[in-house]
Amino acid sequence: MKKTVLITGGAGFLGSHLCDRMLAEGFRVIAMDNLITGNADNIAHLMGNPDFEFVHYDITNYVHIAGDLHYILHFASPASPIDYLKLPIQTMKVGALGTHKILGLARAKGARVLVASTSEVYGDPLEHPQTEGYWGNVNPIGFRGVYDEAKRFMEALTMAYHRYHGVETRIIRIFNTYGPRMRLDDGRALPAFVGQALRNEPLTVFGDGSQTRSFCYVSDLVEGIYRLLMSNETEPVNIGNPAEITILQFAEEILRLLPESTSKIELRPLPADDPKVRQPNIDKARALLGWEPKVGRAEGLEKTLDYFKQTVKQPA
Ligand code: UDP
Repeated sequence: MKKTVLITGGAGFLGSHLCDRMLAEGFRVIAMDNLITGNADNIAHLMGNPDFEFVHYDITNYVHIAGDLHYILHFASPASPIDYLKLPIQTMKVGALGTHKILGLARAKGARVLVASTSEVYGDPLEHPQTEGYWGNVNPIGFRGVYDEAKRFMEALTMAYHRYHGVETRIIRIFNTYGPRMRLDDGRALPAFVGQALRNEPLTVFGDGSQTRSFCYVSDLVEGIYRLLMSNETEPVNIGNPAEITILQFAEEILRLLPESTSKIELRPLPADDPKVRQPNIDKARALLGWEPKVGRAEGLEKTLDYFKQTVKQPA
């Protein structure tokens, strides 16, 4: 008998890659998504697979699953700054009410649950690189507050269910991740720059571009998630690629990879509360999970650009 895993946000960028991985590991997969930022195209190739089921549902409501459930990967949430700016209340509801439903479901079924937290819990960090022991520097009422505080609440509720009800919980703190199935219009730096370069429009670098990020390729992230799920660690673990780069350098790198583009870089105002630096300290993941990223930016960007080129060529 195959074990069953529920993946919330299963039609999203990360959720859909997790559907693929869990099916490949021999699980029966139930993907749940309300499709407000997810996309059914991401899981179209799985339709008809007898081990795969898609449920179009908003998990901020009571979640019912018939039969046994062994694992839950809780990945439902708008996750890009323009998405949570547009959907502030849904973002807070899924991180808070949705997480409550999922933890209640895990408790009722005796399932192990891994929740997707984020480097945003560190806010605009005063510790660099960020270790899991850092408590963060978050503006609760800023534009990013709806996401950051929902995820911080999610972590607190997860630990409460673990400590009070003995639910088997895992918490991953995900740093910037990229790869195929990102939405070209999700507003994040990589899809924004690639879309602009492919359309020969200016690349919009915010601020002076000196802010840094550290980009992890999606297959490395998925490997980290799987190892954490199967581990015994109940406290948060950072998963990300420590290779740090300024956003201006990143835009220049993308232009170099698309030499046919005539785009130039243009500086635009920096959004409020935009973290100035971000780099994961991954010592804990290395020690506990034997995990570290394997795919460098050159290889990861090549694969991602191939995907975006195909997407842009498709008629709307
Ligand atoms: N950014 C930018 N131009 C864009 C989109 C994003 O300069 O068109 C910057 C953004 O201000 C931030 C960094 O790129 O400093 C990464 O932004 P992203 O939205 O990808 O994710 P974040 O790490 O901020 O959540």
